[in-house]
Amino acid sequence: MSIADNLKKIKERLPEQVTLVAVSKTKPIGDLQSAYESGQRIFGENKIQEMTEKWESLPKDIKWHMIGHVQRNKVKYMAEYVDLIHGVDSLRLLKEIDKQALKNKRVISCLLQVHIAEEETKFGLSQKELLTMVDSDDFKVLKNTKVKGLMGMATFTDDTAQVRKEFKTLKSCFDLLKTKLLDLHVLSMGMSGDYQIAIEEGSTMVRIGSSIFGARNYS
Ligand SMILES: *Cc1c(COP(=O)(O)O)cnc(C)c1O
Repeated sequence: MSIADNLKKIKERLPEQVTLVAVSKTKPIGDLQSAYESGQRIFGENKIQEMTEKWESLPKDIKWHMIGHVQRNKVKYMAEYVDLIHGVDSLRLLKEIDKQALKNKRVISCLLQVHIAEEETKFGLSQKELLTMVDSDDFKVLKNTKVKGLMGMATFTDDTAQVRKEFKTLKSCFDLLKTKLLDLHVLSMGMSGDYQIAIEEGSTMVRIGSSIFGARNYS
């Protein structure tokens, strides 16, 4: 199946209110170009340097989402153009994004990443850390970042009950946070293997890579 066919099939399965981020990390420019020609305008990358190279060579109406873990010293390289940063997991990082956004005279949209998986290795804030962060004065004074929602990754497992439980946890965090922050409307959850469950549990944004572009080769 071609990239165009894969995209079409996935879009048919997505409810209208769910935004598709095409995760193009490790994939060559030609693959992104094919997706672009099929109408896709939002792409997700997890490395700032790779994303910047792709931004430089592809049409400027593409919205670039940073979905990976972000190092503070690299924020400056994407501050000029990034559309949404999914993986914000500390106030220190958010402050750096705010600073770089100000330098670029922009307001950068962000999602706070919440740790929902059982795996130790996945990044993200605990629910307690999340609440402490948004209640802090340091958070409230930030002017050049806009927190639009939450992002989370479920455990990589065949146990769909486990995955569903984790997505439910994230959704309840989201509903709780909505009572504290205005304009919270993005719930980024769901990847190739679990996006249908994520949508059933209230996702508004899915990040899909291999089901569009094929398996990644990390050799
Ligand atoms: C790679 C990645 C995805 C996409 O994964 P697929 O299983 O290929 O759909 C989604 N979200 C994040 C954070 C990723 O790093």
